Amino acid sequence: MPLCQLQVGRFAMDDLKFGTRNKRGDWAPNGRVELPPIWERPPKLLKILNWLPEYVWPWNAFHMATTLLYWYFIIPDVETMKALGWGWALWLYVVNASAIFVFYGLVELFYYIRRKQGTRFKYNSKFPGDQPSDVFWFKSQNIDNFLRSFFLSIPLWTLVEVVFLWVFANGWVPWLSWSDHPLYLAALVLVAPMIHEVHFFVVHRLIHTPLLYKWIHSVHHNSVNPSPWSSLSMHPIEGFLYHAVAFWHLVIPSNPVLALFQLHIAGFGAVNGHIGFEKLEFSEEAALDSHAYTHYLHHKYFEVNYGGEGLIPLDKWFGTWHDGSAEGEAIMNDRFKKKRAKMNANSGAASPRNS
Ligand SMILES: [Zn+2]
Ligand SMILES: [Zn+2]
Repeated sequence: MPLCQLQVGRFAMDDLKFGTRNKRGDWAPNGRVELPPIWERPPKLLKILNWLPEYVWPWNAFHMATTLLYWYFIIPDVETMKALGWGWALWLYVVNASAIFVFYGLVELFYYIRRKQGTRFKYNSKFPGDQPSDVFWFKSQNIDNFLRSFFLSIPLWTLVEVVFLWVFANGWVPWLSWSDHPLYLAALVLVAPMIHEVHFFVVHRLIHTPLLYKWIHSVHHNSVNPSPWSSLSMHPIEGFLYHAVAFWHLVIPSNPVLALFQLHIAGFGAVNGHIGFEKLEFSEEAALDSHAYTHYLHHKYFEVNYGGEGLIPLDKWFGTWHDGSAEGEAIMNDRFKKKRAKMNANSGAASPRNS
């Protein structure tokens, strides 16, 4: 324990400069989550240019880096991929599972097990490991989430990967080369996170309809207080549909590297919404922004923020956006109140007929 305390104190940033903590100890950021400046009217070019590095760095650059590492060192040659085979499929599964074990596992180890920054910047002051619950396998959110990720979702991620590589290898869809179409493919790299946002919103909104929620999506929502292992903890149908975003590159003219990038945005990027901390501290001044707050609010309130951070602001357009401000909270509460009133009116109207 003394070692733990020493580490907690070592890089202490003052999180109250960036947000507030309530009586329960839950921390919330000041201000609001702003939509990307591409949606401002009239468009402000300078603001967009200033935003571009943040769009690319560090998260999308990281997804591109893992994509290129895979492409040059992991993905089998085209001849092998022309025929489906357990050998190369299992190889991809082992690499995907190992990569997630290390990547998510490091966040889990430092911030949830060793708790190096305590609850600084932590939205929910409690740690899932301290809260056993009957909704989880073995009453443990961590074990439940871990097993679902590694034995359901990552195999389904790998299935999607094997299928699109097999289709590209056989030449059943266009495989655009970088030398012939450099500008189009570069543009597609920038558009890929937007494809992710739209695909995720549509699938996610669909599985929030009452029947599908109960059957499929409630599994993911068991984690009201998510941690990294919650990211890919899904019902198998959701696990498949979520990763199937890569199949868009079989529909639009593309290249397997782009499909792989799209898959990595989904698989590796799922952790963003589930880190549980606003910032991961590296030193007294340096910290990594998690971009987790909007999806944290989704886990907290369920019927807000079906998409991500509004890269394509579908939540804003459909009236389900919660930007983390008091005003956002009031808009949400007003919507919930109207929904309850409508439900009560409907059940009131139905009761005379039922009786
Ligand atoms: Zn989630
Ligand atoms: Zn949901």
